[in-house]
Amino acid sequence: MGLKKHFIYSKYNMSKSIYPKDFPLSKNLPKDCDFAVQKSDNKGIGIKAKRSFAKGEILCEIQGQLSSTMTLHSLQIDAERHLHDPWFSGLLLHSCSPNTLVFMPSLRIIAQENIQSGDWLTMDYATTEAILYRQFKCHCDASNCRGWITGYNEISFYKESEFNENIPHDKQ
Ligand SMILES: [Zn+2]
Repeated sequence: MGLKKHFIYSKYNMSKSIYPKDFPLSKNLPKDCDFAVQKSDNKGIGIKAKRSFAKGEILCEIQGQLSSTMTLHSLQIDAERHLHDPWFSGLLLHSCSPNTLVFMPSLRIIAQENIQSGDWLTMDYATTEAILYRQFKCHCDASNCRGWITGYNEISFYKESEFNENIPHDKQ
């Protein structure tokens, strides 16, 4: 079965959507030939590019389940709605100098800079989230790293005494 599947995919150069089958089929949804969902060294599961993307290019569109509350893997659409997406966009790693922008009005991910095959895809969580599921210490190594990440409209719960390695440093 596995061999047959491989043969079919390579013969017709087809690849599978990263989203479950029950999502409406769209040619713009992320496919496993372009992206890999992978465990990162120290930041949990993330998304890696499997090909290069030019700055300004639309990487893909995103999908998910509408929710009135935030989840660990949701992105905020507006004041009342969140997109629960534990398959793709909800797995993007945070960076204070990200290589992608998630544009929620059109549910599209856009390259903020040239992306090479093998690069982790990153976004700035504070561009979409008013309040984070949980604030965290950032290890993104960007020169403009904010150090402690919050949503764009919440107070910081940063406490010097808690600023240690036990604090979750990522959405994961
Ligand atoms: Zn940072």
